[in-house]
Amino acid sequence: MNFNLTASKRQEILTAVTNELETVYNNPDEVVVSKEFNVERIHEMVNAFSFEESNDPEEVLLHVIEGIKEHSVHITHPSYFGLFNPRANFPSAMADVINSYLNINVAGWGHAPYACEIERLVIKEFGSKFGYKDDAIDGTFCTGGAESNLTAVLCALNRHFPAMAEDGLLGLTKKPIIYCSLESHHSIEKAAKVVGLGKSSVRSVAVEQDLQMNITALIGQIEGDLENGFHPLMVVGTAGTTGVGAIDDLLEIAEICEKYGLWFHVDAAYGGAAILTHLKHQFKGIEKSDSITLDLHKWFSVPMATSLYLTSDTSILHKTFNVKTDYMPADGDQVERIDSYIHSMQWSRRFIGLKIYLPLAVFGWEGYTKTISHQIEMGDVLRSLLEENGWIVKNRTDLPIVCFTHPDLLENKEMVQQLVDDLIYSGETWLSAYPINGELTLRACITNYDTQMEDLINFTNLLSTYKEKLDEQICC
Ligand SMILES: *Cc1c(COP(=O)(O)O)cnc(C)c1O
Repeated sequence: MNFNLTASKRQEILTAVTNELETVYNNPDEVVVSKEFNVERIHEMVNAFSFEESNDPEEVLLHVIEGIKEHSVHITHPSYFGLFNPRANFPSAMADVINSYLNINVAGWGHAPYACEIERLVIKEFGSKFGYKDDAIDGTFCTGGAESNLTAVLCALNRHFPAMAEDGLLGLTKKPIIYCSLESHHSIEKAAKVVGLGKSSVRSVAVEQDLQMNITALIGQIEGDLENGFHPLMVVGTAGTTGVGAIDDLLEIAEICEKYGLWFHVDAAYGGAAILTHLKHQFKGIEKSDSITLDLHKWFSVPMATSLYLTSDTSILHKTFNVKTDYMPADGDQVERIDSYIHSMQWSRRFIGLKIYLPLAVFGWEGYTKTISHQIEMGDVLRSLLEENGWIVKNRTDLPIVCFTHPDLLENKEMVQQLVDDLIYSGETWLSAYPINGELTLRACITNYDTQMEDLINFTNLLSTYKEKLDEQICC
């Protein structure tokens, strides 16, 4: 078969694929949100085609879409209340199509100046939104929050130990210490492992009742480490914890970082989006940070592998990632011509920034503010509906993450887990379980920009139905 297929065949396939994708994207009733997976059936579908022969391209493509449809949790569904995975908005989905068709490589400015300048523009715009000064905004696009947080640890190390780029960690005489809260994302711990500091360099600081970092405990930890000959390196404040949506006191952390000379990183992977709304004041202090992680593939509703690492130190990315090679085009003579490959972890990479540029150009900041505010409002609605139906909300946040339980379920982990599993296998919804101060709760997050009041009413009805079923099983 011709490797290029033919123009008419491509056109035909494109239409068939788009039609198939639209049935899922446009008709949530056509798919079950989730179900118990049948591994045998999955393997059967995985092994449908032999690589020893060629296969009809249209058949292959439609088969794969069917496989994904049958055997995935449907994040795009309005009754998916999961782990920050959004329904991607249409312009951003088109960005992935454009990227794949034209296969732009933004490693070097010289190959893709338009794309690189679009990414610069978006980085500057986001930096301003977080309150960075115009001449103190730099950043790079990453594949996810894990890479953005890793980038933060590397920048902090290179700021504190300028010789590190040359000598590595073995040149250090004191062990650098990273502070985050018990509720921080585990990608911080992973970053510590990846850079070679190890898990023991991470201090998981105690939290308060509402699961924000306990500032007194933080100071005590830093003081203790100084006394014991460690090198306090950085504090990671979380703005919207993954479990319950807690926002650490960023202003206090900023002051502590200033006092002790530590790098201040804010992990706003999910919650950062709320800076565009009436909740902006809860992020006070973020403007004083050295860096910020913002996952656009969470609350900005764009496809996976889109994260932004922002920094107010405009020289640190270059210091951290610069290498000189003789096979890449030479740097441009203008300072502004930033080559992404010596400014970030990745080398060859896709035009990640297009996935946020397109929806911003189409909907504007105002469109995003409206959408994100709508999701915040749906969170409030969900809290009210739950309470009206006898459930107890266990977390305190204005973000649309609701952790809840029922008087009949209190202290009974197995029952909560059973209820969550039953709901997931119902095919009608997806939610998770999360422990708060030792008690397992049900956790629902409004991740879909199209989730409406009626979806929430259905959800609370579903909860009641399945809880009653569980009660019956247990009592009889
Ligand atoms: C999701 C999340 C991460 C990890 O981001 P990925 O995009 O999954 O790599 C880091 N920090 C927080 C607070 C998160 O919610």
